[in-house]
Amino acid sequence: MTPSLRVMVGNLAAPPAGTRRTGASVARVTAQRTSDPLGDPTAGPYAGNDTAGLPWPSGPRDAPLPAADPTQLPAAVLDAFGAARGFLPPDEAFALLGAARTALAAHPELPLLEIGTYCGRSSLLVGAAAAAAGTTLFTVDHHRGSEENQPGWQWHDAELVDPVTGRLETLVPLRRSLHAAGLDAAVIPVVGDSGVVGRWWTTPVGFLFLDGNHTEEIAQRDYALFAPHVAAGGYLAVHDCYPEPAEGGRPPWNVYLRARADGWEPVGQHRSLRLLRRGADVRPPAPPAR
Ligand code: SAH
Ligand code: MG
Repeated sequence: MTPSLRVMVGNLAAPPAGTRRTGASVARVTAQRTSDPLGDPTAGPYAGNDTAGLPWPSGPRDAPLPAADPTQLPAAVLDAFGAARGFLPPDEAFALLGAARTALAAHPELPLLEIGTYCGRSSLLVGAAAAAAGTTLFTVDHHRGSEENQPGWQWHDAELVDPVTGRLETLVPLRRSLHAAGLDAAVIPVVGDSGVVGRWWTTPVGFLFLDGNHTEEIAQRDYALFAPHVAAGGYLAVHDCYPEPAEGGRPPWNVYLRARADGWEPVGQHRSLRLLRRGADVRPPAPPAR
């Protein structure tokens, strides 16, 4: 059975007049539910390039990050992952799963933390790793979407608009996915603005995955608020790292560079996903302005 999927990648289209452009770039992947849990590449609303055809970012590379073996995952998790809408191609997702398992081996006693849930593609895999290790994934999102998910923007999905509020609503699909995957107990959605949650977050974590807002201001703020809570020997993963401005938005790459400057050690890379390890001598970043 060949893992396969439908992928579209690109920079943001021009926003409607009056909206702010973030310069973010996203990879959008949605696999339809088929007998192959990872989807059928030849059909469906998001038909496009196969993951294997996606380019790697240009620029400096870290060591290759090995992908975890997805066959170790429960079928219900793989099925929910294949059906979930979102922005994480399977190959990056399985590299992320491997990163989470590495962090769990270092700190099995600690929870994991994700910023940027959307419909839960990443949460399903990281959450499955947390469940297998007997710990918990907390995943933070206000569930109203980023700038690039709003109407008129390239990554808007009209099917995710709540007819009652008129706003994007990704909490309901997330909850359905977690339920289908059997992960209600292991994955705890924290619903709110990451700036507010981060202001009050105090719990040490063994793994932090930054995949939230891609504006410079908020990406930097998420790093400043949450990275200090990664325990020594724990891990930080950053998605959507594009060293070349022409290939994607700057903020996640700037966060990666800031982490390096703060003393985080580069561990590995799989496409736009970068993994860093917190040594004993990491400098705590200055707290952001409130
Ligand atoms: N990890 C997800 C993709 C996350 S997309 C996956 O695997 O599919 C980025 C998410 O960040 C969006 O769901 C958006 O709602 C969220 N987000 C953007 N700004 C935010 C903020 N200030 N606080 C909380 N969540 C935010
Ligand atoms: Mg992302």
